[in-house]
Amino acid sequence: MPEQPALALPSYLNPHELGPWGNYLEQVDRVAPYLGGLSRWLDTLKRPRRVMIVDVPVELDDGTMAHFEGYRVQHSMARGPGKGGVRYHQDVTLSEVMALSAWMSIKTAAVNVPFGGAKGGIRLDPRRYSQRELERITRRYTSEIGLIIGPQQDIPAPDVNTNGQIMAWMMDTYSMNVGATVLGVVTGKPISAGGCLGRVGATGRGVFVVASSAMRDAGMSIPGARVTVQGLGNVGGTAASLFHEAGAKVIAVHDHTGVVHQASGLDIPALRAHVGRTGGVAGFPGVDTPTPDEFWALDTDVLIPAALEGQITRRNADMIKARLIIEGANGPTTPEADDILDAKGVIVVPDVLANAGGVTVSYFEWVQNASSFYWSEEEINTRLDVIMHDAYAAISTSATEHKVSLRTACFITACTRILEAHQMRGLYP
Ligand code: NAD
Repeated sequence: MPEQPALALPSYLNPHELGPWGNYLEQVDRVAPYLGGLSRWLDTLKRPRRVMIVDVPVELDDGTMAHFEGYRVQHSMARGPGKGGVRYHQDVTLSEVMALSAWMSIKTAAVNVPFGGAKGGIRLDPRRYSQRELERITRRYTSEIGLIIGPQQDIPAPDVNTNGQIMAWMMDTYSMNVGATVLGVVTGKPISAGGCLGRVGATGRGVFVVASSAMRDAGMSIPGARVTVQGLGNVGGTAASLFHEAGAKVIAVHDHTGVVHQASGLDIPALRAHVGRTGGVAGFPGVDTPTPDEFWALDTDVLIPAALEGQITRRNADMIKARLIIEGANGPTTPEADDILDAKGVIVVPDVLANAGGVTVSYFEWVQNASSFYWSEEEINTRLDVIMHDAYAAISTSATEHKVSLRTACFITACTRILEAHQMRGLYP
């Protein structure tokens, strides 16, 4: 038989040209040696299953016309419908949405919820548009991607700069187009429109659950442990409160307005109330105010980056004194920083595991919408705790077995689950 030419990647997937997508391809290549016979299927993870680019034309409030570029990428649907948020940001690119969709495939498989991975976005700065304009943009975008989303196809959710209101508009638009109320087409909806109790705090709660397990494994106890947190929003705020309630000392918080530090432990309820009133931690009374650089160098036991991507880099990784890093944010640690931390013996619980509480409770929302039977918040939190705890335990065992980091173990577990599904389903036609 003549030798087949090597499979060339389509030009739009070239790892040398595409930042976030290139990083993802590198992460997948790193797990190839651990996949045995499944590696035959690995190329399916190196390209999205389906990419949709849509024009979103809208009449603005002043009567002028504007066009926005929108995307929906379905990376893998081998294990179930696509799942992933919709981001509204002026810097959204196809490469970024592709990478985020792939990381959703890894995340849903790592915690073993029956979804694939998808992501969407519109390239716009939402602060420049009125609520009425955002509603029209959202509704037109939803109609355009309506061809490929649906409760059994692909289920969007909130991401950066999108929220429950936007999800309610998306659900309503899809429902109007199909002629029936379809609650399960998106998650992260307001409670009054089919949402799920506990969804808002779910990601922070998941961060706390995996942090507790990782601390126990490292021989650390929560009462008295020193914790530092970057970002006191939805994720960091919930995690900080749970640590505070469990007796840990949250000694420093760094947000977009500055850093506050108190060696004896900050009063987290008072700090969160201050942030609610003023928009940031700056100006909180009775505390020290180190610089952002000093924040990373603080003597602490647990560090929780829960703000933005690319915060722990080769510039500051060496200063970090924490024994454990729990990644609440998506992509807070660069690959070079990962290597530096690994060499220092710092344990990093990666984003694809640590912040999977949000997608897990999204799964609960979808199940409740499908059955029209709603659970109590206590039931939701208990089920979330079990899934997060079991996922951490399985991945930690795999890391020990393979002698790899928790991040690599997550990718091994997730890629194995996705590729096993591919192999069992076979190739159509
Ligand atoms: P949020 O908007 O509620 O809070 C963001 C926090 O980051 C704020 O405290 C803000 O002050 C801080 N911040 C912003 N810019 C900063 C800067 N330059 N320096 C320091 N701090 C800065 O956002 P969130 O929902 O808490 O999300 C935080 C991270 O978690 C993001 O990476 C997001 O993708 C990720 N995440 C969120 C969820 C979720 O369910 N909300 C799920 C998975 C992952």
